[in-house]
Amino acid sequence: MATPIAPYYQLKCGCNQYPWGKKGSQSLAAQLCAKTPGWDGDGPQTDFQIDEGKPYAEMWMGTYPTLPSYVASTGENLQDILDRNSKELLGDRVVTKFGHTLPFLPKILSIAKALPLQLHPNKKLASQLHREDPSAFTDSNHKPEIALALTEFEAFCGFKPLDSISAILKLAPFEHFSAGMNTYGQRFTDEGLRKTVQSILEASDETIKRTFESLRSLPDSAFTGRDAHIPQLASRLARDFSPTDPGILVGLLTMNYVVLEPGECIYIPADGIHAYIAGDIIECMARSNNVLNTGFCPKAERNNAKQFCSVLTFEPHDKEKCILKPGKTQRSKEGRTRMFETPTREFNLLETALGAGEDETLDPGGPAILIATKGSAMVQVNNEVFKLSEGHVYFVAHGIQLSLKAEALGLLMYTAYTE
Ligand SMILES: [Zn+2]
Repeated sequence: MATPIAPYYQLKCGCNQYPWGKKGSQSLAAQLCAKTPGWDGDGPQTDFQIDEGKPYAEMWMGTYPTLPSYVASTGENLQDILDRNSKELLGDRVVTKFGHTLPFLPKILSIAKALPLQLHPNKKLASQLHREDPSAFTDSNHKPEIALALTEFEAFCGFKPLDSISAILKLAPFEHFSAGMNTYGQRFTDEGLRKTVQSILEASDETIKRTFESLRSLPDSAFTGRDAHIPQLASRLARDFSPTDPGILVGLLTMNYVVLEPGECIYIPADGIHAYIAGDIIECMARSNNVLNTGFCPKAERNNAKQFCSVLTFEPHDKEKCILKPGKTQRSKEGRTRMFETPTREFNLLETALGAGEDETLDPGGPAILIATKGSAMVQVNNEVFKLSEGHVYFVAHGIQLSLKAEALGLLMYTAYTE
């Protein structure tokens, strides 16, 4: 049935089952998806039900064809409705810039063990890879992304400052990875770091294993300050991954380890190295599924180390610079919404937090996808009112204003939109 045009649609979303996801109802992605009402298996005709024995990794909200969202009332694919009514629903400016689809993709991730150590290639490399191997690289677009913590969230994100890395590489077990330091004399540079990372990624299984064993045999006191987390995290990673996995050494020796509290957020630029370790997050990215993996995954799934290192960016180069701080926004009338403004044109993220009975009026401007992650509210759009409850996901057309009044448990809601 062709869905009539409307200012908003409730969506049915799907949840994928990558093995790193949290199991059964421990997974926030699964819990929210089960309330959506979500879909299972082949499409929107089957309601989503949690199987306690299975991992649930990512709920996707939007129009990406691998795991699209459907309109709850009719079961029609949201993309088909956007194709028929692109100007009315997306707005002229979005259609001119990005075509007949949403330029962003929000997801809920529930992570039990680390995702692959990865980067998302810039536009130039993405379009080259897409030309050469369209089945592995399905998009010609870049994929900057943000990750906002919904529970405590741990990640490797960007590189530590050079002096911290050179200090740790001077410890005996790691000296053979310090070639990048010697080539460039006393001063360790980003180009030296590139060589160091490549030498770890290209080292033999035996070298990685021996180095990791030596790392674990060092006393905890060898790691201080920025590196104090290393002994404990090393034992956890040893439980989940082969000791020959080079991701462990790249992560522990060279990368920032960040622990975010709920409501804190990191930004990953194109070509930025990262690996999410544990926790539940809302992630939003430019519409793309391209990734180069290099660790925390079986050897067969790793991309070429040289290519990976050739595009690496060295921003952020410090723990503090990974953080994307929220600010005030004119999109909110009552000031109960914070904006996580990204440097990309594709999307920003709004966080609306209301206590019992509190109001907010939001005017995202461009097309939006919103999800309530806690509580509920009555929402007015034009002359219609609907109830937004935990787990509900909506598409909202461009130019539509939302007036919210939270119910007894308050409301926590996230809205991804294009300016
Ligand atoms: Zn990523």
